Amino acid sequence: MRPLIAGNWKMNGLGAEGLALASAVRKGLGEGGQGVEVLLCPPFTLIERVARAVAGSPIAVGGQDCHPKASGAHTGDVSAPMLKDAGATWVILGHSERRADHGETDALVRAKVEAALAAGLTPIVCVGETLAERDAGRAEAVVEAQLAGSLPEGFAAAKGVVAYEPVWAIGTGRTPSDADIGAMHAAIRALLATRFGEAGKAVRILYGGSVKAANAKPILAVPEVGGALVGGASLQAEEFLAIIAAARVAVA
Ligand code: PEP
Repeated sequence: MRPLIAGNWKMNGLGAEGLALASAVRKGLGEGGQGVEVLLCPPFTLIERVARAVAGSPIAVGGQDCHPKASGAHTGDVSAPMLKDAGATWVILGHSERRADHGETDALVRAKVEAALAAGLTPIVCVGETLAERDAGRAEAVVEAQLAGSLPEGFAAAKGVVAYEPVWAIGTGRTPSDADIGAMHAAIRALLATRFGEAGKAVRILYGGSVKAANAKPILAVPEVGGALVGGASLQAEEFLAIIAAARVAVA
């Protein structure tokens, strides 16, 4: 399975710096991804410009959220067809920052995933436990419930991607042990295979949470880790390119 390295820029990047970052990643990547799929998810305002800046390269562009409806009276929201129209082919959904800041439920995330699939976007659905949930021994149960509620039928057949992102590891510099990452990814794989059969065995499961150049290699070598969703480190071209290089080593 080709690993996917996705950069989530979050609410960072004005025009000049965003374009400089996208161009630096493009330049550093060269002609091909060499076995690695690369995705940049800038803020809505930069999607069209970043898509133009990476056109003709192996880099894809994604949004960080979308509304479940295709259009209508939803001030300030952006729909999946709008993302597609701007040049995105992917969308991150159910990120823990959206779940926390905007009260997004599993049911809402599922509706957004359905909207993304209907618009022809590939969704990356984020799940992950809080530290209190992990300490209470409930991490796997929490993630399994999120997956059951957030993934619609047809998700695996449409090649949707799951990102396991422990909330306590996002932006904190802390990561689970490789053994804990492996255990959670194995649990997610089992659930996907049970629910979606053969297609579930092929769903990529990314790890996300404080991935950096310095820790990417061992994390990406953990069984069932099919790539990384990278926040902070995706804002520096050198760091992001080093994570992509680590993914190449993992598949070599
Ligand atoms: C993220 O936002 O999805 C993320 C994993 O952030 P960071 O890499 O900064 O922890």
